[in-house]
Amino acid sequence: MLLKGYQFKLRPSKKQKKILLRWMGACRFVYNCGLTHRSMNYQQWQNSVSYFDQQNALPEVKSDPELSWLKEVPSQSLQMALRHLDTAFKNFFRGTGQYPQPKKKGIHDAISFPQGNVLKIRKKARKTSSILLPKLGEVELVQHRNFTGKVKSATVSHSHGNGWQVSILVEEADMIPTNTSQETVGIDLGVTKTIARSGVHPDQNLPVEQIKRIEKRIAVLQRRQAKVTRFSDRWRHFCRVVAKLHSRVSRIRKDFLHKTSCELSKNHGVIVMEDLKVKNMSKSASGTKENPGRKVAQKSGLNRAILRQGWGSFRTMMEYKTKWYGSHLILVGPKNTSRRCCECGYTHEGNRQTQADFLCLQCGHNENADKNAANNIRRLGLESLGRQPLEAPAIAC
Ligand SMILES: [Zn+2]
Repeated sequence: MLLKGYQFKLRPSKKQKKILLRWMGACRFVYNCGLTHRSMNYQQWQNSVSYFDQQNALPEVKSDPELSWLKEVPSQSLQMALRHLDTAFKNFFRGTGQYPQPKKKGIHDAISFPQGNVLKIRKKARKTSSILLPKLGEVELVQHRNFTGKVKSATVSHSHGNGWQVSILVEEADMIPTNTSQETVGIDLGVTKTIARSGVHPDQNLPVEQIKRIEKRIAVLQRRQAKVTRFSDRWRHFCRVVAKLHSRVSRIRKDFLHKTSCELSKNHGVIVMEDLKVKNMSKSASGTKENPGRKVAQKSGLNRAILRQGWGSFRTMMEYKTKWYGSHLILVGPKNTSRRCCECGYTHEGNRQTQADFLCLQCGHNENADKNAANNIRRLGLESLGRQPLEAPAIAC
């Protein structure tokens, strides 16, 4: 079985919005209390509190007359808040996350409904449906795409940038892999190209101009915001508009990553990618005050800057999408891929004449630098498979 998430725009009524925001507040309250409870227990008695300890304490907490307002919230949603806290702690102990922080109002406001059998989705018009949420009733949503399968859970979230959204987790039958391609392609996170591909394959580029325009607009708004009184209505208005623009940029990036990863895993048998440590990447680019990073300008090209934020999720997408479509993903070490000539193998820093241009000092091979790197990555991938690169990498860009 396959779990897939679908995200839709939610259109709650005024009354429903009020209730949902209140419920989100309750979930936040439970999360933060749970966090304090765990931290205090550990600091005072070195005790670790488990999820079940906290879940079992919930009914008692709710019976407190001062906290009776918690009773109006579906209890499973409150339990989910504790579940999320537990996951945050697990990630922390595993070393993949920071120590859990208290949630703040207005930042990642969300509430989960794990009762899949209750969440009924009913079609109303071609693109309008409604979802039945416990204790709340039917809420309208814009169903821009259809899905089949069993609904497992739903999460409603709200932010100024994205508005109201619902993510629905659906259990679907396994996909039958359709990809029979034997072709191997190397991809590189480029400087002049967003994602460069080896050989003659076309490269993928983010709509950089569009993003630049939005970022300019953000800068203008932030300058204007600096002149008005802090926390005034006008100031808040600027906050909302800026948040909206920021989410637009992130949606453009997400759309790009989804389309590219789909296209790659559908049409190529083996995809080779650099095994970049995303955290190290941003570190090495800017460096610290005492030890400034090398080649800051080269590494902080716009393409890289924008994609750096999405590179980790791109890898995740590639990991599961290659499984869906029946292709394979190979990760190789990124060492020397941008300095090595893909024709003769000569590795030297001087090969990289400019950001965009690669000119081999030994054989004179001239190519776009990102393409050259992608060719090297492809070769590394084939070597790790124990195969020799059969076709000579094409020169055309
Ligand atoms: Zn060469």
